[in-house]
Amino acid sequence: MTSESVLRERGLRVTPQRRAVLQYFLIHQGEHQTADGIWTAIQEVSPEIARGTVYKALHDLINAHVLEQIPTLSGGDLYGLRLTPHHHFVCLSCGRVDDLPASFHPEIAHPDIDSVASITTIDVVFRGVCHQCSLVHSS
Ligand SMILES: [Zn+2]
Ligand SMILES: [Zn+2]
Repeated sequence: MTSESVLRERGLRVTPQRRAVLQYFLIHQGEHQTADGIWTAIQEVSPEIARGTVYKALHDLINAHVLEQIPTLSGGDLYGLRLTPHHHFVCLSCGRVDDLPASFHPEIAHPDIDSVASITTIDVVFRGVCHQCSLVHSS
């Protein structure tokens, strides 16, 4: 899977910015990063790409459901790859966000609310303490 093939599949025009942003996430699968973190990483390989165009590409990819945007308790949003459905684990101590497989799924009933016509996806956020943080606290 290349950044170009993903962009074409989703009907997005291939631009150097979109390729660079998507390439970053294909290399760092399962990780979530801030917009500034992505910008910094892209700067190292493609210094000619301007900050504003990276942010624009980020939003194009979110609108095309290639990337996801996850709000955090500290305010700065995190971005991750969203090519397959998955859930998240958030560590309340250090703030790390991990992908969990979609099979990790409690039974959820269809909400019996008039305004809901149909459900296309369900994302569950599991909150707790990560392994690393639990080791720090127990020592
Ligand atoms: Zn943690
Ligand atoms: Zn994710």
